[in-house]
Amino acid sequence: MLTDYHLHLRPDEREKTAERFFTPANAERYREIAAERGIAELGVAEHVYRFTQALDVWQHELWRDSARDDLDAYCAFVREETDLRLGIEADFVPGREDRIANLLDQREWDFVVGSVHFLRDASLDTEDFTIWGGGESAERIWRRYFETVAESARTGLYDLIAHPDLVKVWGERAPRPDKDLRFFYEPAVEAFAESGVAVEVSTAGLRKPVGEIYPARPYLEMVLDAGCPIALSSDAHTPQQIGFEYEKALELLDELGVRELTVFDRRERRMEAIG
Ligand SMILES: [Zn+2]
Ligand SMILES: [Zn+2]
Repeated sequence: MLTDYHLHLRPDEREKTAERFFTPANAERYREIAAERGIAELGVAEHVYRFTQALDVWQHELWRDSARDDLDAYCAFVREETDLRLGIEADFVPGREDRIANLLDQREWDFVVGSVHFLRDASLDTEDFTIWGGGESAERIWRRYFETVAESARTGLYDLIAHPDLVKVWGERAPRPDKDLRFFYEPAVEAFAESGVAVEVSTAGLRKPVGEIYPARPYLEMVLDAGCPIALSSDAHTPQQIGFEYEKALELLDELGVRELTVFDRRERRMEAIG
């Protein structure tokens, strides 16, 4: 089987409203394209910060501007009007673990995706609030990023860790550390192994300036050496992006001897053969 967890039913722009995109017809378009591409297992994981309840967790300006929809209405829609697995992409906000847990525990997810898009108030992957060019060295940003990813895994809040080297998203447009990047991956891999979390292989990086799968091959090799289960996603924000460039991901997984993917059901995990 093939999976595409971590789908978004709408693009990230704020004007893309729930009313327009959280519809059975839109979910059906995702299903149809997935079927054409041989992907049986689909899970939706909308960004938590688009929901008003997220403001109980964090009050970043981007979140205040984006939080418009009701989280329970989203859950009810996915459960009652689609056949997609229900997930959420819940940013890890250090120090707010109890609030994140409170938001998550009140709802019945199939899976919870953990992601790190910010280091304190600064964004890794958007031009607004960007961390890049603010005087902090690439080395320090990378180190802080992977330490935060490690911390997110150790919280036990998440079933899978998304795009686990998002810090590279800008490619050559942002500075990169000089030293062997495996030095930075190490604490994250250790935390994945200790916490037993699944690690996402995401083709989304191929659509970004970096033009590379998340995680980078040497990082993925370390993740596999540590025995971590793999989840496969495109992080699609439109139906056309479902299974985006999966042939590249499948080739990489095959070369590295990965034969199974993680499947989630009500936060229980099982492994299914790729195919
Ligand atoms: Zn993300
Ligand atoms: Zn996403």
